[in-house]
Amino acid sequence: PAKSTLMEEALKKIKVTRTTQSRVGEVDFNNLVFGKKYADHMLVADFDGKEWHNAQILPFGHISVSPSNAAWHYGQAIFEGIKAYKDQEGNPMIFRPHDNYNRFNISADRMGMPDVPEWLFIGGMSMLIDLDRDWVPSNEGCSFYLRPFMIAADEFIGVRPSDTYRFMIINSPSGPYFNKPIHLLVQDKYIRAFPGGVGYAKAAGNYGGTMQPTMQARKQGYDQILWVDGLEHKYLQECGTMNVFTIIGNTAITPDLTQGTILAGVTRASVMTLLEEMGLTVEERPISIEEVVAAYEAGTLREVFGTGTASSVAYVEKLDYKDKSIRLDTTKYEVGAEVIRRLDAIRTGKVEDVRGWNFQVPA
Ligand code: PMP
Repeated sequence: PAKSTLMEEALKKIKVTRTTQSRVGEVDFNNLVFGKKYADHMLVADFDGKEWHNAQILPFGHISVSPSNAAWHYGQAIFEGIKAYKDQEGNPMIFRPHDNYNRFNISADRMGMPDVPEWLFIGGMSMLIDLDRDWVPSNEGCSFYLRPFMIAADEFIGVRPSDTYRFMIINSPSGPYFNKPIHLLVQDKYIRAFPGGVGYAKAAGNYGGTMQPTMQARKQGYDQILWVDGLEHKYLQECGTMNVFTIIGNTAITPDLTQGTILAGVTRASVMTLLEEMGLTVEERPISIEEVVAAYEAGTLREVFGTGTASSVAYVEKLDYKDKSIRLDTTKYEVGAEVIRRLDAIRTGKVEDVRGWNFQVPA
């Protein structure tokens, strides 16, 4: 539906209770810390087994949940991460929210959870941003992080799909991403996702499972694990909450999504488009760590970087695999730097949005 009809539907169906006292004055917009402060309002809606009802925007606050809540026990829980920016006139806009909306429902389907309607997800998000516009940072590199999520809501500890669900959106102003080059470890002890599993879903458990291996890697001085496949222990998947790109000669290679083991990043899709626009050949295909090492040894490996909503583009400075260590001079990254420049220009309205990636929040 057109943006306006979407908003009309949302405005009709979502009841708003405004906060009596905004907390925006407590925020130091020059020192934003990711995920610490949440905007004045949040959205809550319930699925009763048949349909979504009781959609409300409320002052941000704690919610009451039974200890027998099914999500806590069996992990029917999914989420999204989206960013909103202000354009050059100060109007808030959301970067590609329909892509996240589609991915959310793909995750929901895999976890046996209901679809969320567009008026609730996109319309509700727009209403929240409209109400909390003062929370959307306008300083360079800052953004408004949007976190829609859904959890099972049955108060029942039998193992079965929940009948009821809760959908929520909470939002947090987020500071400029400091592009610190990252160090990655390829290891073959822990695997993130197998074909047939849930790797392509933004399911909470996918993240829970990576915590302990990542802690171990951090103890050894790495920032993240670069996950590889579980059958041959060599095909790259992704790292942390980022997809991975390698620039070899004039070709950009990123792992393909056909096995269902990798999250289909919205940034990944955007970066692929921008790389093509920049004249690189883009290949989506299986790429092994051996191929990366061979390119490094042959002197053709120019750049390795991760892409994701939280960090945009993160340069890889060091990549270790068994007795091989790849070290790259990230101060010379031209491709990654140009991708960041183009992406930032689009998201903040500095250039014309020729692909319609920005969703203007109706005033
Ligand atoms: N992989 C994983 C596992 C992630 O959590 C994310 C972040 N959503 C990404 C990749 C990057 O996806 P996106 O560009 O949509 O943020």
